[in-house]
Amino acid sequence: LVSRKWRVRPTVIDLGDDLRLGEGTLSVVAGPCSIESEAQMEAVMQHLVQSGVRLMRGGVFKPRSSPYSFRGLGLDGLRDFYRLARQYGLRIVTEVMQVSQVEEMLDYVDVFQVGARNTQNFNLLDALGQVDKPVLLKRGVSGTVEELLHSAEYIFSGGNEHIILCERGIRTFETASRNTLDLNAVPILKEKTHLPVFVDPSHGIGIREHVPPLALAAVMAGADGILYETAPVPERAASDGQQTLDFAESARLVEALQRTYLLR
Ligand code: PEP
Ligand code: MN
Repeated sequence: LVSRKWRVRPTVIDLGDDLRLGEGTLSVVAGPCSIESEAQMEAVMQHLVQSGVRLMRGGVFKPRSSPYSFRGLGLDGLRDFYRLARQYGLRIVTEVMQVSQVEEMLDYVDVFQVGARNTQNFNLLDALGQVDKPVLLKRGVSGTVEELLHSAEYIFSGGNEHIILCERGIRTFETASRNTLDLNAVPILKEKTHLPVFVDPSHGIGIREHVPPLALAAVMAGADGILYETAPVPERAASDGQQTLDFAESARLVEALQRTYLLR
């Protein structure tokens, strides 16, 4: 069902207020790795509004490699995130980690994110097939393109056709970067599926200075959207500070993305 052979017309996801995701526009999703406080959220929101970014990312349920790391503000944090985002006219993308959270989160989410550690959590994918909210599905840490498409198929076949695929780097033998951003996946996915294809260069390389050039390369490779991390003081972020842009870098990137998209 997610194949271009089944549907030729590209899937475009309409979030209302003239905000559409998919072929024909370049979407930008930016924000902190983790939602940390109202002050942090408002600082990011002001920056995004000023930069013309309409979608904010931020996790309240964080899948951390160590159980002792900051694991997010949970549902209370999500309610604050959603309320503030509405005040600023922003839409939000946030990660759901388990089936029981889907219903709890439903009224406070614009786009559900499925993280790389849950790409093959088939119960979660089934549950998201039943909801009327778009899903941004990340590629698994060691997942193939084919496996990503099968995961999307779970959601689609359940009845939810509003899916965005997101390349976020895979685990390879290379240790010089956090992950290996697989830009090959972009044209391959664009050929195989009618679904929007986004790229997350932040997790893809894990090194702050190198995020902007990779984001631009992803646009030239055909991405329909870019998702990256930005926070007021990256050095003090509760998670992923080493790959997080400050607002000056983020503002420059947004401009460069728009210019690059016009070259395509
Ligand atoms: C994130 O977006 O902060 C995140 C945890 O991403 P991933 O699932 O790709 O590691
Ligand atoms: Mn992160």
